Amino acid sequence: MDKETYKKLENIVGKQFISSADIDRVCHSYDATKQRHLPDVVIRPNSAQEISEVMKIANEYRIPVYPRGAASGLTGGAVPLYGGIALDLTRLNKIIEIDEANLMATVEPGVIIADFQNEVEKHGLLYPPDPASNKFATMGGSVAECSGGLRGMKYGVTKDYVTALEVVLPTGEIIHTGSITLKSVTGYDLTKLFVGSEGTLGIFTKIVVKLIPPPERIETIRAYFGSIKDSTDTVSSIIANKIVPRALEFVDEACIKAVSVYTGFNVPNGTKAMLLIELDGPSDSVKKDAERVMQIIKSHNAFEIEKAETEQEKDSLWAIRRSISPALYAISSGKVNEDICVPRSRLTEMLEKIAEIGKKYSFTIANFGHAGDGNIHVNILTEPSVPGELERAEKAVEEIFQSVVQLGGTLSGEHGIGNTKSKYLKYEVGPVEMKLMREIKKLFDPNNILNPGKIFYAD
Ligand SMILES: Cc1cc2nc3c(=O)[nH]c(=O)nc-3n(C[C@H](O)[C@H](O)[C@H](O)COP(=O)(O)OP(=O)(O)OC[C@H]3O[C@@H](n4cnc5c(N)ncnc54)[C@H](O)[C@@H]3O)c2cc1C
Repeated sequence: MDKETYKKLENIVGKQFISSADIDRVCHSYDATKQRHLPDVVIRPNSAQEISEVMKIANEYRIPVYPRGAASGLTGGAVPLYGGIALDLTRLNKIIEIDEANLMATVEPGVIIADFQNEVEKHGLLYPPDPASNKFATMGGSVAECSGGLRGMKYGVTKDYVTALEVVLPTGEIIHTGSITLKSVTGYDLTKLFVGSEGTLGIFTKIVVKLIPPPERIETIRAYFGSIKDSTDTVSSIIANKIVPRALEFVDEACIKAVSVYTGFNVPNGTKAMLLIELDGPSDSVKKDAERVMQIIKSHNAFEIEKAETEQEKDSLWAIRRSISPALYAISSGKVNEDICVPRSRLTEMLEKIAEIGKKYSFTIANFGHAGDGNIHVNILTEPSVPGELERAEKAVEEIFQSVVQLGGTLSGEHGIGNTKSKYLKYEVGPVEMKLMREIKKLFDPNNILNPGKIFYAD
């Protein structure tokens, strides 16, 4: 970036909040995919007005701008593929209002999800979207990715809670979408278009979300199975019994073994799959549902079942699930992580298909995730230093995605497309739909300066 442009940007945010120092560029070059692309400068704005002025300059000089929250994204969303400006939004970190009268809240995008959830709890309320990364991921990042998480089956995902947004467009205008009311059908729903847009259409500077009262009681159950089919049949039976747990998590043998090595946790011999089930609601009905779920689990041959009686026991039942990501990284730093979602009734078929593909390409594939949503995190354990390994993994991914689409599923349940999945988008999105999406992008961002290289392949 030339000195004159740098100076103009510095005049907007102040000397302290713009940097081209190597240390800042390196710290803003990656996300959780571990890709590395250095931005030319890092800017840390403090208001929608500052962002608007930055965008006007970026648009005039065609400088790529990469919005960034905590950089915990799993598809390269915040990675500055073509250099330019890394726009760090973490200074915009105020919880502006928790409105108990209307069960709504307004936050800035840099607020950490768990901080917001804790604050909401102090008001006797609940913000349900709960990605496993909530202790570090930001509200802005979660709106841009439409994050899901552990409670999606019963409570839905981020898009089900966002009702209004303040957004800075790539051309610099500040717009307001949606409404602070619970209902609104005034014109096209631009709010929904922005949620899940992966930082490609605009930069959120204020987010309005719905809140709900918390449940009266929570029951947590963990069960071990000797076959994957028994565990997925259990999932189907729970759903067929019209019970909707708030969490219904599946963990396979490869993940359990990794956690066992990583944490020293003892797993019953012969475990091929584990389910973690959490039910919530009014006390009487939750107790009844928990009993029914225990019967269903037993009828599908679970050989060990635990039900938590205390908060501490609940935490301990969740411990395996929480340790999976670091445990898998510890055994395979080059793991390839996908986030497929299939109709829940096709889960067994999908897992069988993944096992076949793993065998064909000689990979261990570790699967875990939100079985209640049909959303499985597929981890191909690779050793990148082995010649040809990544190319083989890519072929395996291609076949997995083809199977997902054949089963009526979707490439990404909650992590988005970013740049890591963009070349597979055409498997699921037809040419007419793709053209419409590209035209929407062009309408909002005529010069393709906001997060270029994401969602659409080779633009
Ligand atoms: C260990 C681990 C567990 C995870 N578990 C889950 C899970 O259970 N469920 C789930 O859905 N995801 C999960 N994720 C993925 C990730 O944490 C989420 O996508 C998260 O919401 C991203 O937030 P972030 O602040 O890190 O965003 P970043 O990674 O910084 O950015 C993500 C995208 O949002 C854009 N963006 C950021 N802020 C804004 C803004 N203000 N305006 C416009 N665009 C913006 C960026 O450009 C980028 O495209 C997990 C990740 C890790 C590492």
